[in-house]
Amino acid sequence: SREWHLTARPHGWPTPADFALREAAVPEVGEGQVLVRNKHFSVDPYMRGRMNDVKSYVPPFQLDQPMDGGAVGEVIASRDDSVAVGDHVLHGLGWREYAVVDAKRVAKADPSLAPLTAYLGVLGMPGLTAYAGLLEVALFKEGDTVFVSGAAGAVGSEVGQIAKLKGASRVIGSAGSDEKVKLLVEEYGFDAAFNYKNGDVTQQLKDAAPDGIDVYFDNVGGDHLEAAISVLKVHGRVAICGMISMYNATEPSPAPRNLAMVIGKRLRLQGLLVSDHANLQSQFVEEVSAWVRSGELKYSETKVPGIENGVEAFLGLLRGENTGKMIVSLED
Ligand code: NDP
Repeated sequence: SREWHLTARPHGWPTPADFALREAAVPEVGEGQVLVRNKHFSVDPYMRGRMNDVKSYVPPFQLDQPMDGGAVGEVIASRDDSVAVGDHVLHGLGWREYAVVDAKRVAKADPSLAPLTAYLGVLGMPGLTAYAGLLEVALFKEGDTVFVSGAAGAVGSEVGQIAKLKGASRVIGSAGSDEKVKLLVEEYGFDAAFNYKNGDVTQQLKDAAPDGIDVYFDNVGGDHLEAAISVLKVHGRVAICGMISMYNATEPSPAPRNLAMVIGKRLRLQGLLVSDHANLQSQFVEEVSAWVRSGELKYSETKVPGIENGVEAFLGLLRGENTGKMIVSLED
């Protein structure tokens, strides 16, 4: 079985030389464990943080050990009564072809209810992040004007659409290409969108939200957060979900330079970790899967075929080559 190892800790942008695809023996399936043939695995921005040797909310990847992360696959051997051969499961041992997992650490993923990849994206961790971040952290309410950055990505595209479906008066998104901007407005129903590479973010946000914004869902940090602080209304709310513009930075970013505006506007900025919101999981799946089935909520996936392209897929995610969820597919 092949698996990806981190072989050196990147400084700044990771390069292919920091990783190796290695052959490893598949471990014995112990009592209470299952053997899964992975069909798809997830590459996510948070994995960049795990490549640094710093204490964080998820432990760092160990050098010369298999990397891990979300994956879905088919059970091909089971030594636990709760999981049968042929079941499809979601689990945490991605970045490899075969995984031996404790049965209590897998969740059933029913391919008759949704495509398997949906459990990594729209109905999975990024989806719950969008749902919980908007509703429980940003305290979204009907009539709000919402701005979301990284809006053509897995989390951002869902934030914008959930806000619309729950009665936002205006939803604005930013993304890194004109094609993505077009998708946001024409397919996902955003009221306005802009390409942050086309000009000053604050000016573009002011043009898109002449009356200000009530909520900012931050996936990017840096100049986007600064722009939002300038455009937020009094008592505006911010969910700080991610700051991808800084993940490869070798120096701390100076922005937001206007942080003092938080005082006069009485803004509320709150960080968000999806793992705090497991309580919303069943409500989230119920509500969002109904919207997906009815076609009211759309989603994209960018599937990169072949385990050998796993690292390229991850680097592509950091470069913005994905629309919607970035996934490495080991089948088809
Ligand atoms: P995405 O699908 O949004 O993919 C990442 C996107 O980030 C790229 O497609 C790219 O799009 C954009 N990007 C890359 N560099 C920059 C930059 N310098 N400035 C602006 N945009 C950039 O990933 P996810 O939906 O999985 O994650 C989105 C955010 O949410 C990330 O910050 C992630 O860390 C965070 N997150 C946080 C969680 C939590 O619990 N706090 C859980 C899950 C995700 P473009 O072409 O638009 O530049």
